[in-house]
Parts: sequence; structure tokens; C-alpha cells
Amino acid sequence: MRLSLPQRYVQCLTAVRVKLHLNATARRCCSTVHGDVRVRFAPSPTGFLHLGGLRTALYNYIFAKKYGGSFILRLEDTDQSRLVPGAAESIEDMLEWAGIPPDESPRHGGSSGPYLQSQRLDLYRKTAQQLVESEHAYYCFCSPQRLDLLKKEALRSGQTPRYDNRCRHLKAHQVQEKLAQGVSHVIRFRLEEGVEPFQDMIFGWNHHEVAQVEGDPVVIKADGFPTYHLANIVDDHYMRISHVLRGSEWIISTSKHLLMYKALGWKPPTFGHLPLLLNKDGSKLSKRQGDIFIESFQRDGVLPEALLDITTNCGSGFNSNKIGRRIDELISEFNPSKITTHSALLDLEKLPEFNRIHLQHRIEDEEQCRLLIKDLREQIQLAYSAEIQDEDILHEDRIRQVLHLRKGHISSLKDLVSPSYSYMWVRPSFSSQQVAALTTEAQHIASLVLKLISEQDEKLSMDRLNKDLKALAKQTKTTKYREVMKLLRLVLSGLQQGPSVAEMMVSLGPAEISHRFQKLLLPLGTN
Ligand code: GLU
Repeated sequence: MRLSLPQRYVQCLTAVRVKLHLNATARRCCSTVHGDVRVRFAPSPTGFLHLGGLRTALYNYIFAKKYGGSFILRLEDTDQSRLVPGAAESIEDMLEWAGIPPDESPRHGGSSGPYLQSQRLDLYRKTAQQLVESEHAYYCFCSPQRLDLLKKEALRSGQTPRYDNRCRHLKAHQVQEKLAQGVSHVIRFRLEEGVEPFQDMIFGWNHHEVAQVEGDPVVIKADGFPTYHLANIVDDHYMRISHVLRGSEWIISTSKHLLMYKALGWKPPTFGHLPLLLNKDGSKLSKRQGDIFIESFQRDGVLPEALLDITTNCGSGFNSNKIGRRIDELISEFNPSKITTHSALLDLEKLPEFNRIHLQHRIEDEEQCRLLIKDLREQIQLAYSAEIQDEDILHEDRIRQVLHLRKGHISSLKDLVSPSYSYMWVRPSFSSQQVAALTTEAQHIASLVLKLISEQDEKLSMDRLNKDLKALAKQTKTTKYREVMKLLRLVLSGLQQGPSVAEMMVSLGPAEISHRFQKLLLPLGTN
């Protein structure tokens, strides 16, 4: 049985008692970052990018930018049986969409490429060979059947399955013989006792006696591909990674990695393990729901900056928490010594609020606003193409005005395409019975509106309209101001509720308002 990572994590935590010695001085280690900063995000393309991955990438990105370093994307695709078609391209697309593009990547290349592990196999084989020659690794010829039996026996006696290191003890001539016979084999790393503690940037002093709980791990599989552990450290070394910032589920692997660095005589990078990202109630973010994938946020009209903002807001690493930070502010306000060991609790119900604030920022930026106008126009055409009676309604200036009037009220462009805003693009329709049922008072009010509109400037002013509408209501004999507004809103939008009548009028413009009121008077020949 193959245990999932979190299962293995919990199992190891309980089996070994990971020794975490947190102390205040230890945690200061990241307050000064020296040298050439190179960090990496190293996902496996066995799935699409989700919020947990985005957060790891983001902390790496802001760390790199804060210290003038490079952010590298490396795809760990050595488990060929679990590759998901399209995931590799999509991960890079999503980082670009999110506004945290890598400086070096499979797509853009760089000085330490290739950035796909499947294209670096020679390097892993060469390193494994080096380990075999220095007797830090050995060939293992145990059959899958034997390993299976070991596992079953361990489980039956209530123990954690582990390899019994049998092939460690093969004589050189036995190894040569089996190799010559072409017996299928793997290469295993010899785990030594006496692991040295390491200082994690976030969790402080840490130590995991890995040899006491695990059998010697495979570093090269029977198919010649490396396992995660070998490929990961080889790449971090050759890509000159200075800091490894990754999820805390990897903290128990770090001692193993450090043993490998030592065996190879390499200087390890500094490690920092990011606390888990969980739902607000402390439960695990579920990838199965499909709604934590970045592509699904993108499809739903979520702005990347809102996603980055909410992800950092629920976590730590900043001197203060405030909503509305953009990437440059995230970089300047980032303080790695403020990253705590507590899990980050993500409240996705707050996402519309984050989106509302960031949408407002975009509307207020002329260049971004132009893009929003284009996007919104396309969405409207798609949703209402056949029903739009007057193309002027989609004029750039008009859409800009609508965006400025509604900023702070809408949390997504999609809101403006929803039924409650359809009146902006499509004239409400009234049946002839509805029109015939209008009282003479209502007809009178309609004609007053037409007059009022004819006296306004081409560009309507909300203040002036508010005053004029109050005066108009006074001219009616029996109807109260509220009732008049209700009638006007109905004629303008077909709705009982919505923005103020003056705002509706400003967003529709004089020609469209007249059209909507005239339609009511036409059957009576008033026009
Ligand atoms: N490929 C690993 C993952 O998908 C990378 C872990 C690490 O950053 O070392 O999480």
C-alpha cells in the first residue's frame, strides 16, 4: 500500500517524535539574508496548480524579489506514471496569470536549465554513481515480491513497514555477478545514524533520526529514473538554490536530504518550511472539490491580485495585516522572520470582498480599466448579443462610466452581466397590458421625466438629477417621492431594487432614458 504524503507525515510524526526546538534566537536567522538569493518552486506536474501551490510559489517569489534574487520554476516530473497531460504548461501559465512569473523556467530557460527533471536524468545517474563509488549508496536487487512480503509482515505485527537494508551487505563480487546477469535493480542511499540538527528559518532547530525509522531509501528506481529525494537535492545543488522554502509536509524529509548533501560533500541551502494552508475550520483544503484550483478561480472572474492578497492575509510574514495589498506592497512589506509556525486558515467566503477592493483598484487605473472595458464588452456581447437594441450602449465611454459608478459595489465583472444589471445593456420589456394599465398619474410622471431629461446637459450629473427628481416628485399631486422613484426605477430597469434612480439615469444617458419613457407614452399618442 502506498501511503499518501500527509499520511506518511502523520505516521512519521507519531513514530519518531520530530524534535522541534523552537527558540527565539534561532528564528532570527532569516532577518538577515546574505549572498546571491536563488529560490525555486518545484511542483510535480501530477495535477494542476491549486491554492496551496500558489502560496508556496508566492512566498518564494516575494522572498526572491525582496532580496534582489531569482525565482525559479522547476518541474519535478520523475514519476512518469502520475503525470497529468497539460499540467506542466498550465502551472507556468497560472504563475504568469497570477503576476508572479518565474525568472528561469521550462518555458523561458535560464543559466541552470533544463528545468524539467526528465531532461536531467544523466545528472542524477552520475550523482548516484558517485554515491555508490563512495559507498554511500548501493545496488539493491530485492524483488518486488520480497519487498511486499516485508511490508505485509510489518503491518501484521503492527509496525511501520521499512526496508531491512539486506542488500547493504552484498559482497562486491555478488553485486558484479547480478549486474552482469542483468538482474533488475535499484540504487539505495545508506542512511547513517547521528543526523545533525538543522536550523529551519521558520521552525527553528529541527532534528529527525531518519535511520531509526526508515529503511535505506531508493534513489534510482528500476526504470533508471531518480526518486524525488535524489533529484530534488541534485537540482537544488546544481541550480545554486540558496533557500528552500516549501510546505511543512517536507520537514521530515530534510534530515534525509542533509545526509545526502553530506555524503556528496555539498553545502546545503538554508531551509524554511511554510506552515500548512487549511480551511477556516482547520480542515484540509480539498483538491477534489475542484474549487481550489487556480484555473477555476480564473474562470470565475477572480482577480489574481485578490487571490495573492487573501493567501498572504490568512498567513503570516508581514508586519501588519491589511486588505488590498498589491504585489509590490507584498514585496516591500514582507518580513520572513514574521512567518509563524501556525497553520494559515483560509476563509474563501471573504474572497469576493478582496476581489471587490482589487477590482476598484483596477478601475481606477486607466490602462487596466481599458482592459476591463474590453473584457466586459465581450462578456456582454456573449450574454446578450441578440437582445441588444442599440450598439451605442456598448460604447467605451459608457462602459467606463458604468465601471466607475459601480466600483466598490461589484466584486466581479461578471456581476455586471448578471440579471440584476441586464437593464444596463438590454431594454426592459413591458407587455401592452402593463402599459395600458398605467394610471394617468404614471403617464404624467413619464412625461415630466421626458421634459426633465430634455433640459439636462448631454453628460448627466448625479447631483443635479437628485435635485431635479425631488422637484419633479413635488409636481405630482398624489404620489409620494418614494412611489415616484419606484415607478421610475421600474421603467428604467424593470426592477424593484437596484442602484439609485439618479445613478441609473447617469449610467443610461439621456437618449436611452428618453427611449425607455417614450415607449410608455407611445400607445396614448402622447409623443
Ligand atoms: N515536487 C515536490 C512537491 O511537489 C517539491 C517539494 C520541494 O519543494 O522540495 O511538492
